[in-house]
Amino acid sequence: MSAKKTETPKVPLDKIRKAVTKAEVEGLVRSLVKIPSHSQVPTREKEVAEFLKEFLEDEGIDARLRQVEKDRPNVIAALKGSGGGKSLMLNGHTDTVPPYEMDIPPFTPKVQGGKLFGRGSLDMKSGLASMAMTLVALDRAKVRLRGDLYLAAVVGEEERSEGTEDIVLNGPKADMAIVGEPTDLEIQPSHRGLEWLEAHFYGKAAHGGQADKGVNAISMASRFVNLLESDLLTRLRAKGSPTMLPPTLNVGVISGGQQPSSVADHCVVKIDRRWTPEEDLQTVFKEIYDLFDALKKSDPTFKAELKRDTTGMKTMTHVPNFVPSDHRLVRSLSDSAARVLGGQPKVTSFWGWTDAALMTHFGKMPTVVFGPGGKGAHSRVEYVLTGDLEKCLLVYAGTAMDICG
Ligand SMILES: [Zn+2]
Repeated sequence: MSAKKTETPKVPLDKIRKAVTKAEVEGLVRSLVKIPSHSQVPTREKEVAEFLKEFLEDEGIDARLRQVEKDRPNVIAALKGSGGGKSLMLNGHTDTVPPYEMDIPPFTPKVQGGKLFGRGSLDMKSGLASMAMTLVALDRAKVRLRGDLYLAAVVGEEERSEGTEDIVLNGPKADMAIVGEPTDLEIQPSHRGLEWLEAHFYGKAAHGGQADKGVNAISMASRFVNLLESDLLTRLRAKGSPTMLPPTLNVGVISGGQQPSSVADHCVVKIDRRWTPEEDLQTVFKEIYDLFDALKKSDPTFKAELKRDTTGMKTMTHVPNFVPSDHRLVRSLSDSAARVLGGQPKVTSFWGWTDAALMTHFGKMPTVVFGPGGKGAHSRVEYVLTGDLEKCLLVYAGTAMDICG
């Protein structure tokens, strides 16, 4: 690390700090939160994308819309480099989850006690605003980068990652990327893959008064869930992972049967399975088939089938994200964060799944997650810590100056 420090030129962070005020970054977060962009809005992410494009254009930054699906544009902005440097992409999603039943006004952002409240304030219009403001600050400070710096404001991360799939397939291509999901200012170069599975159980219908004439699919499902948790989940936890959080699973949905007086002939159990790079999908499926086999041995009427639920994916499997902790981008983010935060930042593993995995794996752009802190993503009270907005901007800018040169 000490050798690295001597070769890293001191970049003018003070110049960046002066170029954009804290109030401006906060103002942009407010403006983005005010524009609903969830799946129940007929125009989806369109208004927020158009707003961001105009905002950047007013700053004199090259910004374009690229239609991913009809009326669902990504915003691609760029500070073109003078040549000879590495390129970097800052990626953030423009969509949010719906407000559901929030305890706060979802689209009237309020600041109180250093917290900015609203739907998407944390996940992730704050990260996105800090990223957009990074381009603005570098441009205003007249920092000339050698490599290209891109901003990709993408659609659909909360659903099928349509926006980032488009980036992977159609560009722009960068050497490395940062995703600005909230990480509490921790550097997160890894996270688990995400697979949704459906276990279907088939029985035989009969009248509840003559239940022994039927075969109950709900009973099969319950025996399966017991074994899944007592056996497989225990083994997964014990297995752990040298690179990230341990593999895990969650039974999220169970449905079956028609009414109390009928023996259920069908039952479905939906499972969320988080898998690590030390595992592979084949093993993930085989572990479930092994449970089916064990249950069949003790009950010949046991009949089950395993299906993939790919509704959360467009075409690309939700693989794990893994960038080694000694990678140039991780070191650069760590150095930059240390200077801004005044202490060595934590390098940890993200608990959720993000678009970073698609960019690292399918786009061959090593991607690390770094963003602000707060609480309540997808829940009833969501807020971002306003003090983290400028810190993120400075860390992004410092990393861009180091990576792009
Ligand atoms: Zn998010």
